[in-house]
Amino acid sequence: MEAQLLDGLNAAQRAAVTSPAPVLQVLAPPGSGKTKTLTCRVAYQIAHHGLNPQNVICCTFTIKASREMRERLRGLVGCELEAKLVLGTFHSICRRYLVAYGHLIGIPKAFGIADSSDSLNIIKRIIKRLKLSIEPKAARSKISSHKARGKTLEDLPKTSQKHVEKQEFIAVFHEYETALATSKLLDYDDLLLRCVDLLRAYPGCVSNVEALLIDEFQDTNVVQFELMKLLASASRRITIVGDPDQSIYGFRSAEIENLRRMKAFYPETVVINLEENYRSASSVLRLAQDVIEQDTNRPPKRLKATHCHGTKPVLRRLPNPNEEALWIASEIKRMTVMAGGLLLHSDFAILLRSAFLSLLIEKALASSGIPYRMVGGQRFFDRIEIRIIVDYLRTISHPDNNQAFLAIINVPSRKVGEASIAELIKLGEERNLSLWTVVQKIVCGDLTPEKKLSKPSEQELRRLVTLIKTARQKMDSMMPAAAPSKLIDLVVKSLDFENYLKKKYKDDHEDRLENVKELVTHASEVLLQPSNEDQLAQIDGIEQQPSDGAHEVLAQFLANIVLSTNVNNSEDGNDKPRVTISTIHSSKGLEWPVVFIPAVYEGSIPHSRADDTDEERRLLYVAMTRAQALLTLTFPLTQSRDQLESSLTQFLPPKVHRHLAQVGPLFNDKTIADIASILRRPLPSQEDLVKSLEGITGGDSQIDDLWPSDGSRRPLAMLPTNGQMLPDFGRPLGEVLAAG
Ligand code: ATP
Ligand code: MG
Repeated sequence: MEAQLLDGLNAAQRAAVTSPAPVLQVLAPPGSGKTKTLTCRVAYQIAHHGLNPQNVICCTFTIKASREMRERLRGLVGCELEAKLVLGTFHSICRRYLVAYGHLIGIPKAFGIADSSDSLNIIKRIIKRLKLSIEPKAARSKISSHKARGKTLEDLPKTSQKHVEKQEFIAVFHEYETALATSKLLDYDDLLLRCVDLLRAYPGCVSNVEALLIDEFQDTNVVQFELMKLLASASRRITIVGDPDQSIYGFRSAEIENLRRMKAFYPETVVINLEENYRSASSVLRLAQDVIEQDTNRPPKRLKATHCHGTKPVLRRLPNPNEEALWIASEIKRMTVMAGGLLLHSDFAILLRSAFLSLLIEKALASSGIPYRMVGGQRFFDRIEIRIIVDYLRTISHPDNNQAFLAIINVPSRKVGEASIAELIKLGEERNLSLWTVVQKIVCGDLTPEKKLSKPSEQELRRLVTLIKTARQKMDSMMPAAAPSKLIDLVVKSLDFENYLKKKYKDDHEDRLENVKELVTHASEVLLQPSNEDQLAQIDGIEQQPSDGAHEVLAQFLANIVLSTNVNNSEDGNDKPRVTISTIHSSKGLEWPVVFIPAVYEGSIPHSRADDTDEERRLLYVAMTRAQALLTLTFPLTQSRDQLESSLTQFLPPKVHRHLAQVGPLFNDKTIADIASILRRPLPSQEDLVKSLEGITGGDSQIDDLWPSDGSRRPLAMLPTNGQMLPDFGRPLGEVLAAG
């Protein structure tokens, strides 16, 4: 077992996996195997230190990362033990504690979770009602950063009447907290804050925790640091892995300081550094290293490449953003063909500084027939048709959730106008009733609004009430695991949702209906996952709230949706290989054989609204270090000269250019052999190479263009595909841009 666990690890990694140190920091650059080491350490501690997996907590940064970690652990410790681990994001772990023990601090059993769009809607309504001038998104992020620093409403400094802006903010914050409470909702920040409250008041809840492990520690904030201390209060066994150079959540109040603070709080902390990089071609590493080293405030670090030099990264300018997107698509096509089966579409990622940049890229990929998936952009669960069904489920799960009920009260239209809705809300506020209770009373004739609802809309609302009530009753007799998908069926049928979509979305109702069907499949599949995943180990003397079957399963299903901010929409049952389009932020911890980073110009990166240039540089560093074999940066020439110049000189100054190529990779035999060795994949045979190329010459004309007409193997691949020449890095940048 031991040999198997430690197989293939280098000496420093082994030392980290087997270290007896109770508090361990593994600090290392990207691709050095931090996550791998963390995973092996979990397995090692279970196997050799006899830890009970039910009492081991593993925190990852994204849901995708936690899924991957589960998979790896399944391989190392087996399904049975893996399923027992408490593994997830900080938010999902906190949610579990609050579900189990929240009653101890007065959190209602059936609390819902407000996702960021709920929060924004609540804030918008408050601003409208109070006729304030504060910008809703700004208010939301201010509230959130306030909470992320562990501060409550009471901590806000009292301000004089003169500070209108601050006064407004305080008013919104206050109303926002009240609205959440009325709807029995916790927002993302509350999940963490309330869990801190719980564990401070009842440390017994974590008395059984034997070890805590945290990935991507450099991005933890003050509240998460506090949580770490509380979760580990009984065991004082913590392993964290991280890399200060990859800290990219400063805007969300993450604190690199936490590394130092941790050492101060646990003087017994042992630090292990890893140096070898197992991810990237050394050409990619050199470039990334030169970029990050422009930050003179960081301690110098060694980073050893274990892979061959490979192909030089490419910096490519294109005439405009549209051509930039089209060029990327054509390169993906060219590379897939030229690599003769060595590269699939799923090996490519396009990493964006801002989600909006995906529009042109998506269009270009779609028009080239390249399948793709989006990560961190519009999520599957944000699509309107999915959102509606989910809001119905949320209402069924807990009808007092005003936010969910408001979202469905007039969808599909029940001819209840804005004014009527406002009056219903007011009635509720006056009587301290939820909207749901108000509507129930109205349709039963127990309550009459000043301005009576029209007969037809009252009739419609009665049907809505019946639907919710019927669904709740039916749940009691449902097999818990079947509840979510059965309820979706029920909602879809009774709303005649298919017809609704048909009428409302003439052009793409079929796609939307497909999405709804996909939701049903998703609902029936999620629950095939380990059922005890949501159960914490029982602790003597502290009562957990009993689970109540289908209701509990539905609540869990909905919480997973809300917390899955980084789950992509590729779970559409169709597992053909797809190019990934992701924001750089969501790409953390992941790797791809081929990476494109478009829009490398001032205003995009560094972003015009970012005030921390160092963080922007780290962002570029994170993006570059996702690449295993091939890396390409692009920028459109339509940006103003200032923008181009300052971005390129800031982040990619001339001294860096020696590591950059002007022309896309030549797919000669050496390139292919290098890629295969970096990816540890078998070399495609000459036969495969020829076959993949032959298959194309007859068909697709776009690819025909890439293929030499004289029958030689791949000379055209050496030429830029649209005739545009690249900056001449030998000349001063200003001159080059002027010439372009
Ligand atoms: P990041 O900072 O980007 O999160 P990381 O330090 O967590 O990177 P991992 O994702 O754990 O790095 O590892 C990077 C890649 O290197 C993975 O594909 C992993 O399987 C591989 N790897 C790690 N250690 C070794 C090793 N000793 N031998 C071979 N491959 C390794
Ligand atoms: Mg990692």
